Amino acid sequence: MIPFVDLKAQYHSIKPEIDAAIQGVLESCAFTLGPDVVELEKEYAAYCNNAFAAGVNNGTSALHLALLAAGVGPGDEVITVPHTFVASAAAIYYTGATIKLCDIDPVTYTMDPAALEAAITPRTKAIIPVHLYGQMADMDPIMALAKKHGLIVLEDAAQAHGAEYKGKRAGSVGDLAGFSFYPGKNLGAAGEGGMVVTGNAEFNRKVRMLRDWGAEKKYHHELKGFNMRLEGIQGAVLRVKMKYIEKWTEMRRDAAGRYDEMFAGSGIETPVQMDNRRHVYHLYVIRTAERTRWIEELGGKGIQTGIHYPYPVHLLPAYADLGYKQGQFPHSEKAANEVLSLPMYPELTGDMQAEVVEAVKAL
Ligand SMILES: *Cc1c(COP(=O)(O)O)cnc(C)c1O
Repeated sequence: MIPFVDLKAQYHSIKPEIDAAIQGVLESCAFTLGPDVVELEKEYAAYCNNAFAAGVNNGTSALHLALLAAGVGPGDEVITVPHTFVASAAAIYYTGATIKLCDIDPVTYTMDPAALEAAITPRTKAIIPVHLYGQMADMDPIMALAKKHGLIVLEDAAQAHGAEYKGKRAGSVGDLAGFSFYPGKNLGAAGEGGMVVTGNAEFNRKVRMLRDWGAEKKYHHELKGFNMRLEGIQGAVLRVKMKYIEKWTEMRRDAAGRYDEMFAGSGIETPVQMDNRRHVYHLYVIRTAERTRWIEELGGKGIQTGIHYPYPVHLLPAYADLGYKQGQFPHSEKAANEVLSLPMYPELTGDMQAEVVEAVKAL
């Protein structure tokens, strides 16, 4: 059996360190925020080449609080893409702002700057480009449009820890960025976690207040806040994993390179890493018009696959009230019908990949 991801392999490779980190928090009883979270925030901000990072309870909260800190609320429009995990859109909904969508570029699966430009209105307040699958969106034209129209840019970097665009790290290009530490992400907690990264001291201060009941000083609630603090155990576990994130990222990139080589000349549509970008391969996504059959036949050979994601946001029942129609975002809709994620994780071996590729070529 070749699993789609293997979290146990990673845990066992660093088990003594992880266990000791958790034991340390149990002994100190610094269960929520606390010294490990403070250190993680410094380390993570440095990793992103940016000034500030604030730990929160998950990636969705990171996006939600980032928008609130930037002043997004009812009456505002925020633009994101339909081809993403639903959280990118849900975070907008939580603020009371209106979700606006624009189509993706079909090669990179990220926000198409021309489609973005067409979606901007006088009510647009912010843009959320999604660095999907581990490759950053085309940030230069997106930032130029934001500057021209005075818009906030929030990077959805939930899948893009360590990704780069023209030498700039994910989390250092927009006004703010939201990261997820969901267990299956490139940097995963032993549970849930997230981080808001920003170069803006005031945004950072607001996020820190909002995650902890809107108070800088206990019981002095200046803002209507939330309980969205990052747990101490997650801070400690993530600090251990930070030591390995670059190594694991390179292992993912090596694995992607091996897939690329093995598929070369086969006609299979493999991921495209654009020039001047460091793709961190959260997912290795191919595409096919015969996806249902492929999944079934690969599954029969013990090869697990995934679909990220089968429905674009505008065709989800939960967001039918946005009023978009089928056919409005053709690249997103086509991607949703065709994308297929192959097994991808740092510990994936060349032998396992050869088995996957052989099975795909035999389809
Ligand atoms: C995982 C993910 C999120 C949400 O992160 P959680 O930690 O699961 O809340 C948001 N956006 C994208 C693109 C994601 O992949």
